[in-house]
Amino acid sequence: MKRQIFTEDHEAFRQTVRTFLAKEVEPHYEQWEKDGIVSREAWLAAGRQGLLGLDVPEEYGGGGTADFRYAAVLTEEFSRAGVAGLALGLHNDIIGPYLTSLATDEQKQRWLPGFCSGEIVTAIAMTEPGAGSDLQGIRTSAEDAGDHWVLNGAKTFISNGILADLVIVVARTKPEGGAKGLSLLVVERGMAGFERGRNLDKIGQKSQDTAELFFNDVHVPKENLLGELHGAFIHLMTNLAQERLAIAVGAVAGAEAILEQTTRYVKEREAFGRPLARLQHVRFEIAELATECAVTRSFLDRCIEEHAKGELDAAHASMAKWWSTELQKRLTDRCLQLHGGYGYMNEFPVARAYTDGRIQTIYGGTTEIMKEIVGRSILD
Ligand SMILES: Cc1cc2nc3c(=O)[nH]c(=O)nc-3n(C[C@H](O)[C@H](O)[C@H](O)COP(=O)(O)OP(=O)(O)OC[C@H]3O[C@@H](n4cnc5c(N)ncnc54)[C@H](O)[C@@H]3O)c2cc1C
Repeated sequence: MKRQIFTEDHEAFRQTVRTFLAKEVEPHYEQWEKDGIVSREAWLAAGRQGLLGLDVPEEYGGGGTADFRYAAVLTEEFSRAGVAGLALGLHNDIIGPYLTSLATDEQKQRWLPGFCSGEIVTAIAMTEPGAGSDLQGIRTSAEDAGDHWVLNGAKTFISNGILADLVIVVARTKPEGGAKGLSLLVVERGMAGFERGRNLDKIGQKSQDTAELFFNDVHVPKENLLGELHGAFIHLMTNLAQERLAIAVGAVAGAEAILEQTTRYVKEREAFGRPLARLQHVRFEIAELATECAVTRSFLDRCIEEHAKGELDAAHASMAKWWSTELQKRLTDRCLQLHGGYGYMNEFPVARAYTDGRIQTIYGGTTEIMKEIVGRSILD
């Protein structure tokens, strides 16, 4: 079915993203996968191409459009190309909104031009060794020392952790405050006591630098508080809906791409004297997966439209996240099976999609947490 949500301008932007991927990403991707990190030059190239800060006001060097559909196009194309390492979506759709909606004018002047040019790579650090799904368990703490905070603690699994120049850290600013005792502090490269740990060895997304971060008596100036003091939980809840939708967008585009590629494969590969595509089991597999993608696409495009109008609620974003990522996981596994042994070889897109995509049901809130949110919205 023809998709109805994009205009000619969105499709023109899609071509820009494809050109960028062909020129600035694909020639380097294997090297980045070996290095465990992407190059800084790629971030600068993305900035020059206008792919960073799509919704940041033009006065700061951004694209000046609040239309989430451009962000969706970017995520779709990266996902279709199987590019997981260069995390422009994380920077634009997940971290960007914290800066555009919460930063003061002075903070915007300081951070947004670099955010849009690619000179400031960003990360958000919520997760700790002892606190992931349950953010109330966060122990990283910031003590008030007059004109600055003294930050201590450790974060783990932080995407862009090695490259990041600016990290939004969720820290406890009120010891007994529970969820109401957390604040967002911006830690910048070069602050004394801010150290990076290992670039973690993952099963997939090899070129994404997912790292540990340590804060040992880091003096964070009071001007680096982002949003309300003790208001982090509300800020997180507000912004996580877009994060979840963005993950869903990548999941469905990635699933569709793998299904297309698998369809081509089963038409070409022969067994018992005829293409695999002539076997009834294979035909049913493809038919089932195509149906699941089409039904999901329809719901997801509605969610994108609602979000572009500012009307998507947290429960529907959570539905989109868990459903789409579980589909991606299921589909990639079944498509890998249809490739036989070749599916296990890294040179085939389905192999990388299998390991790269496995995280999708976990980060940004696990499937189980998404169901909790949906259940709460219906039952409480
Ligand atoms: C590659 C990668 C990138 C990441 N990037 C970032 C990042 O940039 N920033 C960041 O802050 N974090 C990041 N994370 C962390 C990620 O968001 C967490 O791993 C995730 O939220 C789960 O937390 P956890 O690992 O502590 O698992 P846990 O919370 O310990 O969960 C373990 C299991 O218990 C289940 N569970 C927990 N609570 C419940 C419940 N109430 N009901 C039912 N089941 C439950 C979970 O669903 C899961 O299956 C990243 C993780 C990875 C692996």
